[in-house]
Amino acid sequence: MRVYNFSSGPSVLPLEVLEKAAAEMTDTNGTGQSVMEMSHRSGDFKPIIDRAEKSLREIMKIPANYKVLFLQGGASLQFSMVPLNIAAVETGALRKKITIIDTGIWSVKAAEEAAKYADVNIAASSKDRNYTYIPQNVKANPGDAYFHITLNNTIVGTKWPYLPETGSVPLVSDISSCILSEPIDVSRFGILYAGAQKNLGPAGTTVVIIRNDLIGRAPSWTPAMLRYDIHETEGSMYNTPPCYGIYIIGLVLDWVKKQGGVEALAEINRKKADLFYSYLDGSKNFMPTAEKASRSIMNINFVSREKDPEKKKAVETRFPKEAAAAGLVNLAGHRLVGGMRASIYNAMPVEGVKALITFMEKFEKNLQE
Ligand code: PMP
Repeated sequence: MRVYNFSSGPSVLPLEVLEKAAAEMTDTNGTGQSVMEMSHRSGDFKPIIDRAEKSLREIMKIPANYKVLFLQGGASLQFSMVPLNIAAVETGALRKKITIIDTGIWSVKAAEEAAKYADVNIAASSKDRNYTYIPQNVKANPGDAYFHITLNNTIVGTKWPYLPETGSVPLVSDISSCILSEPIDVSRFGILYAGAQKNLGPAGTTVVIIRNDLIGRAPSWTPAMLRYDIHETEGSMYNTPPCYGIYIIGLVLDWVKKQGGVEALAEINRKKADLFYSYLDGSKNFMPTAEKASRSIMNINFVSREKDPEKKKAVETRFPKEAAAAGLVNLAGHRLVGGMRASIYNAMPVEGVKALITFMEKFEKNLQE
């Protein structure tokens, strides 16, 4: 039996992708091998990685002056690779400046790593209201090496409702939890990066989309594995790439195309999010935490409306347990923020959201009895 999985990542994948991978497990494309057994340099694997890149370019309408890299180390390694490659200087040179907007834990981590290589200015933060909103009117400092945002904040369930204007300063964004959820104008960015384990495939692959002119700026002391130019020259095969993960990404991208592309998925995603937010807004017992203008359509955080902290905690502990028993799993909030969270990525069908609402309505009735 398949459950409805509301995990924030690794998370639900389309059933037909899993079934195709299972069917091809011992013999992929008539090669008589699993993708896990293929040499990454072989003629068997090359078409798999090429096709995954071609599909991603097509689906995201990635302009020709951008490279697509399939790397490892998660989005977390990009917190180091971005500053190393486009902000760090040769030993002894004056440090460059960058700006980071603090919209939650992941942007704090991006700032902490960047501070090892550059002077970081946190130009705005939403920490004052527990990261429940996205700051307005943020400004780039001309001359900065880059300007960093976390487009969708997985832990607190917020999303940038607009893209900041940064002029000639490259806009860099972590899109781990919103890649392929809605169309995105890649040409507005210098670098986009995402861990695969939400909308793209299994954990272990990181996708980096980088504008050509930002490649080749790393100082000479940068470790080879952390240099975009080396990965680019080697076609993401400087070392053994995460072959199986790239193969699954390819299958997921085939599925995305079959759904009608990212535009069609965005429509369904907005519908799913609207359904759940309107239920929460009208609920007597639960309420969403993100401010209206900054709500994520991928991660929806909610809490009990109970005023008494003990009773509130009791409801929030009971809810995910009872939901899991009913086949609706992974609804507890992130350990750092508590409460509850439903992650409704591309592969979560509308039926899953409806089943969650029906379960919550019953749960509410029980609470009132
Ligand atoms: N950024 C965001 C927005 C995330 O949601 C996550 C993981 N949930 C990370 C970064 C860290 O990603 P990874 O575990 O792939 O390093």
